Amino acid sequence: MNGFVLYRGPSMIDGQPIVVIATGLEDGGSNSKTGPMVQIYIIRGDQNPLEAVQTGDDVSICGSCVHRGRIEIDPKTGNRKNVGRSCYVTLMHGPRVVWDAFTRGVYPDVTLAKARKLLARKRCRIGAYGDPGAVPLKVWQTALAQVDELTGYTHLWREYPGLADFSMASCDSEADRIMAKALGFRTYRVRPKGEPKAAGEGHCPAAAEMGKAVQCAYCLLCGGHRSGGKADITIEAHGAGAKHFALEAA
Ligand code: SF4
Repeated sequence: MNGFVLYRGPSMIDGQPIVVIATGLEDGGSNSKTGPMVQIYIIRGDQNPLEAVQTGDDVSICGSCVHRGRIEIDPKTGNRKNVGRSCYVTLMHGPRVVWDAFTRGVYPDVTLAKARKLLARKRCRIGAYGDPGAVPLKVWQTALAQVDELTGYTHLWREYPGLADFSMASCDSEADRIMAKALGFRTYRVRPKGEPKAAGEGHCPAAAEMGKAVQCAYCLLCGGHRSGGKADITIEAHGAGAKHFALEAA
C-alpha cells in the first residue's frame, strides 16, 4: 500500500466534506524540494481540486489563506472563476493526481490506530496541499503520534493555536509573525525579495537564495515544537507566492 485515507468527514472550517490522504508511504514520493517524505494531502472529498479552486469551495481546506485568490463572475459565461491565486501548490501536479487516484478507489480507508502504525517511524509532510487546520486536531494527535519527524504549515494559526505542536505558522508579514508567536507558534515567514531576515529567524536552506542546499527530509526544522529547531524560518518570496507581494506593493 503506497497511500491511504486517514480522515473522511466534515471540514473544521465550514463542515463540508473533506478527505486526508497520505501518499508515498513506500516510495517517499518524488517532490524535489522536500525529498523523500510521506506527503499528506487535504482535499475536498466531493470535488476535483481544480474545480474547487474555481468555485471558491477550496475554502473548506484552505480557509482564509491570502494565497487562494478571489472569485469573480465571468461576464461572458456567467461562470465563477478564480483571479489572483498565488498559492505555490501547482494543482495539476500532486492534488490532481491524488484526486484521480482517490476517485479510482486506489486509497483504502484506515482507522486512526492503523494510520498511526503505518506512519510510525516515517518522515511526513502535513499539508502537501490544504491546511492542517481543516482537520480535527484529534486526528493529527493520533495519526502522527509515532512519526519519526514531520513538517507542517498553517495559515490558520489564529483559529487553531493547538497546531503549534507540529506546525509552523505561515506568515506573510512581520506583524503576522509577532501575532503568531504570541499564540505560541514558531513561524515560517515569506518576506519580500531583498528584505533582510529579522532577529530570531534562520534562512530556509531549501530556498533559492541559499542555493537549495538541503531538502526538507534532511533538514526537518519545520515541525513546530515537535522539531528540534528553536529558531523561526524565513524565505524570500518566490514562484507563485511572489505574486501576492507584487499585488500588495502595487
Ligand atoms: S527550513 Fe528545512 S524543513 Fe523548513 S522548508 Fe526549509 S528545508 Fe524544509
